[in-house]
Amino acid sequence: MSKYILPELAYGYSALEPHISGKVMELHHGKHHAAYVKNANAAIERLDEARAGSDFTRLAALEKALAFNLSGHVLHSLFWRNLGPRAGGRPDGKLAQAIDHDFGAFDKFRAQFTEVAATIMGSGWAALVWEPLGQRLLVTQIYDHQSNLSQSGVPLLVLDAWEHAYYSQYENRKNEFFEAVWNLWNWGDIAARFDTARKLDMQLPGTST
Ligand code: MN
Repeated sequence: MSKYILPELAYGYSALEPHISGKVMELHHGKHHAAYVKNANAAIERLDEARAGSDFTRLAALEKALAFNLSGHVLHSLFWRNLGPRAGGRPDGKLAQAIDHDFGAFDKFRAQFTEVAATIMGSGWAALVWEPLGQRLLVTQIYDHQSNLSQSGVPLLVLDAWEHAYYSQYENRKNEFFEAVWNLWNWGDIAARFDTARKLDMQLPGTST
């Protein structure tokens, strides 16, 4: 049976300093993300056992655990790839054009994305997604790891707004963290995801013009 695995980082835990401390990265990747991987695998195993034993009494809880932990694994894997040392700045090419088209300007997009992270009630994420029905980019809020996201959105850029992502470094000044990550976005990675996502055809009616 295939199992989800914790991906190695392409850079060292301290490589994103001073914007994200090595201690935060080590705990976030090595403990928090690792727990989502472990618990996603555990949920799959429990579902296999439930099917084998025809015992579905805990099915709803298992489905919820799977959605939470697998989504957590996906989002953290994306987040690590979205970040990079010696990064930041702005996108160029087709992604830059699409951001201008769908948000008016890069600065407008940046303001909305940062505010979406800052106004999460509880734990969640900000995400830039490609929405294939409307053939457009959207900024969305994700609650926990899996709620409030439209089912068609393909995440391109995600920002962890859980307290564990910043609290030991920034304490209650979370807006400083949400600004600091703009020095770390790896636009090459995000543009490559955009190119791949745009090939997705939902085979559904889209929008009228
Ligand atoms: Mn996290």
